[in-house]
Amino acid sequence: MPPPRTRFAPSPTGRVHIGNLRVAIFNWLFARRHGGTFLLRVEDTDRERSTEAACQAVLDALAWTGLEPDEPPLYQSGRQAAHLEAAEALLRSGHAYREDKGGTGRGECVVFRMPGEDIAFEDAVKGRLIKRAADLPDFVLVRSDGHPVFHLANVLDDIAMDVTHVIRGDDHVENTFRHVALYRALGAAPPRFAHLPMIVNAQGKPYAKRDGDAYVGEFRERGYLPEALLNYLALLGWSPGDGREVLTRKELVAAFDLAGVQPSPARFDPVKLDWINGEHMRRLPAEERLAGCVADLRAHGLAEDADPGYLAHVFAIMEDRIKRYIDAAAQTVYFFTEDYPFEEKAVRKRLRRPGALDHLAALRDRFAALPAFDAASLEAALQDLADARGEKAAALIHPTRVAVSGSAAGPGLYVLLETLGRERVLDRLDRVIARERAAAADADGAS
Ligand code: GLU
Repeated sequence: MPPPRTRFAPSPTGRVHIGNLRVAIFNWLFARRHGGTFLLRVEDTDRERSTEAACQAVLDALAWTGLEPDEPPLYQSGRQAAHLEAAEALLRSGHAYREDKGGTGRGECVVFRMPGEDIAFEDAVKGRLIKRAADLPDFVLVRSDGHPVFHLANVLDDIAMDVTHVIRGDDHVENTFRHVALYRALGAAPPRFAHLPMIVNAQGKPYAKRDGDAYVGEFRERGYLPEALLNYLALLGWSPGDGREVLTRKELVAAFDLAGVQPSPARFDPVKLDWINGEHMRRLPAEERLAGCVADLRAHGLAEDADPGYLAHVFAIMEDRIKRYIDAAAQTVYFFTEDYPFEEKAVRKRLRRPGALDHLAALRDRFAALPAFDAASLEAALQDLADARGEKAAALIHPTRVAVSGSAAGPGLYVLLETLGRERVLDRLDRVIARERAAAADADGAS
């Protein structure tokens, strides 16, 4: 195969939907995989929606994801003269005719004369597709107001750009039968077509804004890594076929293959995206990961004057728990302030169970008496107390964690305690024990 030329041909509307970015990604991967060229065509003929800002949003989304086109973008609006000229040529060759649609007297449009035969093409994803001549009526090429329609502009621009592979969403399958007819009438060989499966929500409906974040800018603002979004979107409809799910840009390029694209709808799974994002975060250089997390702390007014060594340590022990930068502050708040929130359910389940406060008070005294406040000593002290009280370690671990962090989940308890340090741990235990005893007394008094 000669080096392919692919293109991303969005109609800019203001924001870039992830479905569109996914189309761009597949085009980019295919071009890169085969040493080809990836192009951008901005289909900006809708003058109301295709503002300069909308076009810029497309460029920004591509730049952020690292999908820079290999040639300057082609703006479709600049090619109107060429489109109209081609329509004239089709009129001359008998492939089109003029008609006053609806007889409104508002002028004539140019209508394409379908060849009156069945049209078939081989789709790289869906296989051979065919449509009967009876289901393929003539269609307008140039409206009576003089504007070329999508089909004409799209096909002519693909020819002008020497596009060899049209990879796009399967909402365009129906259009493609017309496009194939147009190519033939224009004396051009149709490109290869690959129609990508739709992205759907958990209910199997097209994935939209109401299902969650849907625009590239939203993922960017929420601290997703471009590499992770690229990786995840590449897996919507495609897989390398060997079970790998976390792939770098380079690995994606090396593995990509149109033959691996599935025709069935691809379900958008935010949990999996988060997992992939976390995996990519773990692979970043530690300083870069730290900077992203610290930015989120600062955005929440936390850790303004925190010691850099302490910050690095906190995020080192949290490492694989933080899946997005935007979660960093919420997941580590208790390392940076005494004003940390308590999960209601954890308090109910762990602190308000019979005996929990007694255990905590006894543990507090053991911790206070320890010669060294390190993870190993803390563990030995807790285990020893649990044995003395005929309890499992868990009966002490859970309430301790909730008391010092407000949360039911987090890093290993002993590392957590060591990181907080003796003073803060004892203070927090004292405060929580006092507060919970007061609450219990109140509840007793009330009943
Ligand atoms: N502007 C069209 C769209 O965004 C282009 C379709 C195509 O890739 O040919 O759906």
